[in-house]
Amino acid sequence: MTDTTYDSQNIFARILRGEIPAKKIYEDDYALAFPDIAPKAPVHILVIPKGAYRDVYDFGARAGSEEIAGFARAVSKIIAQENLESAGFRVISNCGLHGGQEVPHYHVHILGGKALGAMI
Ligand code: 5GP
Repeated sequence: MTDTTYDSQNIFARILRGEIPAKKIYEDDYALAFPDIAPKAPVHILVIPKGAYRDVYDFGARAGSEEIAGFARAVSKIIAQENLESAGFRVISNCGLHGGQEVPHYHVHILGGKALGAMI
């Protein structure tokens, strides 16, 4: 996708502004993590950047190097914090129509806690 429009009323933007509650799993200057409201695995964490980016494409295209590095480090800190590294886990980012993205603020899903099976 090339369009960089961003809907500031999306649910995750509202969570970032504190307008909708979410249980904080991790937060720093670059990222916020909270449990998915409809978990698809025993561990299902959403990680969102603090900046206004629509999806993984938009983030990679427009975010600054510090934001990109900060977000990647935050994901690793969450993986360590939740003790997921040794057993393994899956990181997914849905994008756009074919990707089945529901919430148009960039996020990664961290899934784990059991053998997750085939990717699709
Ligand atoms: P997407 O399909 O956009 O990759 O995933 C969006 C995810 O956000 C879904 O797994 C959905 O369950 C989760 N979700 C939607 N609304 C809320 C909410 O208000 N709070 C939380 N914690 N998760 C939400």
